Amino acid sequence: MESEQAVAGRYAPSPSGDLHFGNLRTAVLAWLFARQSGRKFYMRVEDIDSERSSMESAQRQLEDLAALGIEWDEPVVYQHDRGEAYAEALAKLDTYECYCSRRDIREAASAPHAQPGMYPGTCRDLTEEQRAYRRSQLAESGRLPAVRLRARVDKWTVQDFYAGEFTGPVDDVILKRGGNVNQVQTGDWAYNLAVVVDDGFQKVDQIVRGDDLLGSAPAQAYLAHELGYPEPEYVHVPLVVAPDGRRLAKRDGAVTLREMAERSGVEGVVRQLAASLGYLEAASLEELLDCFDPSTLSRDPWVWEDKSGN
Ligand SMILES: [Zn+2]
Repeated sequence: MESEQAVAGRYAPSPSGDLHFGNLRTAVLAWLFARQSGRKFYMRVEDIDSERSSMESAQRQLEDLAALGIEWDEPVVYQHDRGEAYAEALAKLDTYECYCSRRDIREAASAPHAQPGMYPGTCRDLTEEQRAYRRSQLAESGRLPAVRLRARVDKWTVQDFYAGEFTGPVDDVILKRGGNVNQVQTGDWAYNLAVVVDDGFQKVDQIVRGDDLLGSAPAQAYLAHELGYPEPEYVHVPLVVAPDGRRLAKRDGAVTLREMAERSGVEGVVRQLAASLGYLEAASLEELLDCFDPSTLSRDPWVWEDKSGN
């Protein structure tokens, strides 16, 4: 028998265009953390947003990651295949329907004592009559209610490799979006549910990702707890930013692997990635794996320098 708890890390890109240097750096870090700790490493395509995702983009991203020298275990998991698992998870949770529009939530959230960005619980305690009325109102415009988690806590604490003990607010997160009546079959699963269910399913116990997501870790860890999954260790790593401090984006020059490789070859990109982690000598990911020391990684964002001459 295998050991009771498989341990794994993962990288989970959204296939909405080529990965840029910042995405690649996070992927390399996720791979380094997993491999250095003897974990398996999984690749997951986060394509629940069907309007923004394409299989062609997913394929290019996977090719780019492989070209860098990142290898992964097990077949790639695609979220578009996972609707049944999300529905099963949803059925296990204490949930309620939410009829609010974005505007309703914005207005309620600007009331005195409301916490910015947090769902104010407008639909949490409606009576059955009130629900029937709101449901029929939505149905008239061809829309379905969203489904929210009935959270039993208002904050949760996670362990992060760099941030240490981190406590953040938990609200009644959306698990399934409203959408319109015609989408009933495919559903419109919310990212928070999908990411937690997939990590639980794959027994991922180490989550390495950009530190812009630290704030969402407590709510996701709480959801994992409610679904009976062991809580993962988080490793939120600094992002790559443009010289003016904004998060790196495609408009910042030749930032994708293919663009960068035109100038310096894939080996040159690997060297730049290693250099951005503080290793000027490493010429391959294998060499980087030998010398990588997570405790010395700078906690500051890495500032992108456009070397394409644009
Ligand atoms: Zn609501």
